[in-house]
Amino acid sequence: MREHIDNNARIGTKAVWGGEKDFRVFGATQVPVVLSVAYDYSDVDEWQEVALGNKPGYTYNRMSNPTVRAMEEKVRLLEEAEEAIAFSSGMAAISSALYTFLRPGDRVVSVKDTYGGTNKIFTEFLPQIHVETVLCNTGDHEEIEREIAKGCNVLYLESPTNPTLKITDIERLAKAAKAVGALVMVDNTFATPINQNPLKLGVDLVIHSATKFLSGHADVLGGVVCGSAALMEKVYHYREIHGANLDPWAAYLILRGMKTLKLRVRQQAQSAMEIARFLQKHPLVESVNYPGLETHPHHDIAKKQMNGFGGILSVVLKGEMETIKLLLPRLQYANRAGNLGAVETIYGPARTTSHVECTLEERRALGISEGLLRISVGIEDTEDLIADLSQALAYVESQMPLSIHNL
Ligand code: PLP
Repeated sequence: MREHIDNNARIGTKAVWGGEKDFRVFGATQVPVVLSVAYDYSDVDEWQEVALGNKPGYTYNRMSNPTVRAMEEKVRLLEEAEEAIAFSSGMAAISSALYTFLRPGDRVVSVKDTYGGTNKIFTEFLPQIHVETVLCNTGDHEEIEREIAKGCNVLYLESPTNPTLKITDIERLAKAAKAVGALVMVDNTFATPINQNPLKLGVDLVIHSATKFLSGHADVLGGVVCGSAALMEKVYHYREIHGANLDPWAAYLILRGMKTLKLRVRQQAQSAMEIARFLQKHPLVESVNYPGLETHPHHDIAKKQMNGFGGILSVVLKGEMETIKLLLPRLQYANRAGNLGAVETIYGPARTTSHVECTLEERRALGISEGLLRISVGIEDTEDLIADLSQALAYVESQMPLSIHNL
């Protein structure tokens, strides 16, 4: 089934209307949550045709489900992909995309700063199936190109990265990967389709943790992979057999959340920019990572490939964990949690969130300071968020020896 939405509709309109019409029943204005595990066929021939994929329809929820399909359609339209397939989590989407295409003896080129779970797939699980993974310094495009040229089956990128907000030039690296026949995958979770469309930059597969901005309300896990029909047929087959399906309730929550994606992302990015500028001037702050800042080492690349800089920033605080431990309990408009991309502002140190799976030495090797605090900006009023941070930082200053300010 395909969408009736006008091809020229803009992204905010697609987020509201996209993917829904074919799935409504009884004149309902919202997509139903179809919980039935299986589907009834009195005509055995028709049943077989649907089961073999020769005719559209549903047979069993591990293969497909109408609510999940509606959610997949909405993401597909936002990413301007031929096909989108949903998974039970972002990690299920990432691992399924990788395992669908990788074989023993293959070589993956990626960067050091991917999400901690992804990093574990590269360092712990892919070696078990004799897939070599080379993790390059994230901002070093020449190094990544050199490694690609040595032989590469999959180039895997994340931009901006979690939690260091580093940027890679997706178009440049996708070109290098295509030259050696590699498949290019990009985790677009931080940017969202509002701010970045990697398929337009030459990428083959775009991956999202829908747990984050797509759903937007921190109440559901999900993931999605988008790409060409030919590639996605393989990803679909992997999912139907391995079974990391998205639950229909979860699909509904993501579908509903996505309707406000553009409004949320716009507000979050505006506040993130102001908070980044505020923090840059604060004496307790060592550095601020936000691609919207002119001081960001790859601000120019971000400007070229993104429509906005997103709702996440991270800050390295003087005094490291001691400062973070004093700061976090003082914040009023804050969840101190391991999630991001929600309507509420969320603070999380790398040590307990994105890189909790890593040892201290591994985090150090990845260049992740113990004083690094990720801020996922919510949709609250910007002034309130800055006032909140300001009072909490003032409290920390009052509690710390003067020497910390001179660090
Ligand atoms: N990709 C990025 C960039 C993430 O930040 C996360 C989780 O924080 C994931 C993937 C994994 O997503 P999930 O928690 O939905 O499995």
